Amino acid sequence: MKIDISKSLFEKAQQFIPGGVNSPVRAFKAVGGDPLFIKKADGPYLYDEDGNAFIELINSWGPLILGHNHPAIKEAILKATELGTSFGAPTAKEIEIADLITQMVPSVEKVRMVNSGTEATMSAVRLARGYTGKDKFIKFEGNYHGHGDSFLIAAGSGAITMGMPNSPGVTQGTARDTLLAPHNDLKAVEELVEANKGEVAAIILEPVPGNMGLILPKKGFLEGLRKLCDREGIILIFDEVMTGFRLAPGGAQEVFDVTPDLTTMGKIIGGGMPVGAYGGKKEIMEFVSPTGPVYQAGTLSGNPIAMAAGYAMLKHLHDNPSIYQELDKTGGKIVGGFKDTLQRLGLNYSMTHLGSMFSLFFTDKEVVDFETAKSCDTQLFGKYFQAMLSRGVYLAPSQFESFFLSTAIKDEHVQHIVQANEDSLKEVLD
Ligand code: PLP
Repeated sequence: MKIDISKSLFEKAQQFIPGGVNSPVRAFKAVGGDPLFIKKADGPYLYDEDGNAFIELINSWGPLILGHNHPAIKEAILKATELGTSFGAPTAKEIEIADLITQMVPSVEKVRMVNSGTEATMSAVRLARGYTGKDKFIKFEGNYHGHGDSFLIAAGSGAITMGMPNSPGVTQGTARDTLLAPHNDLKAVEELVEANKGEVAAIILEPVPGNMGLILPKKGFLEGLRKLCDREGIILIFDEVMTGFRLAPGGAQEVFDVTPDLTTMGKIIGGGMPVGAYGGKKEIMEFVSPTGPVYQAGTLSGNPIAMAAGYAMLKHLHDNPSIYQELDKTGGKIVGGFKDTLQRLGLNYSMTHLGSMFSLFFTDKEVVDFETAKSCDTQLFGKYFQAMLSRGVYLAPSQFESFFLSTAIKDEHVQHIVQANEDSLKEVLD
């Protein structure tokens, strides 16, 4: 595969941009080799500057559930740009999207738009603290909630990939208020709450973590957290930045039928534009300024182009709910194909799958938390990633990410992916 142009762009990028990238995992550090510079994308394909084409299973890290350049979203963006790019004042579109979100996610009675998932989680925790008057919150090892200071403690995603789940620059004072629990371990959370009785404002988690690979909730875990929060007056926050509108129109909370107090959203909600949001119970959301005392603001929040893209995306999902069955079927075909191959090759690697998300873990342990995720052979994953890339399949460049499907992936692509997986495994294990 020729990647001369990407190589020279990467050299130049490193002169002006830290590590040559604007988000660390893009640098391919975890998988070796130079990152590819992408020129354009369409449907299920990414095209790099050297003219290589790849079927892709990242979809911009989740947002593009309909694939690239979906006509409904493209048209909405083009139309919106004709009216101006930003007003810093209320627009009718903001009401339409908020109304639609509250229909799709019934636990969200009121919603505030921000510009990223990071902003959404930071704001939600601030709100929970302001509302309860307590300082501490609980997060789970290997869960990723963006790069807000108080979340960069045993964080998943790029933070594990870069070997820095705890970032320098986060003060000890900040870290003291973040309590850590092992994922999927209800008893450990109960003990932590007991040890900090009356001091915990919130429990935040990815109800279905995708940031240490895809991990499914153990039976009773989410329900147990709900009960614990009710009993102790703790705000339960589901971080559905990744799972929201992806696992179901109402996200993981719909799939598992557990209702959080607050939900954070991002990715799909912006239709590929930079958007995040947080919302939940009316009485809590009214604590946000200007109705309440908890301050949160944004120059570009509710940006008209982002709202148009997000609305077009959500409306399409809302009006075509069969998309979710279709995605689950596609996921089933790929995962089924991968499992057949693993069996034939006598490999015991662990796989998880839910709807349009799945992971292949290079470990024979069942992956249920951060500890088991860390048992993966990340070097082998790096080789596998490169082998898949050379066969025209672009995966997330890290073992600790989920694969994301889009509706643009059809049977012919599934066949290509399954074959590439078999050939790549044979190559790396040779
Ligand atoms: N929360 C979760 C669950 C995420 O997966 C991410 C990003 O991957 C974030 C928060 C942060 O979102 P953003 O990268 O838009 O700041």
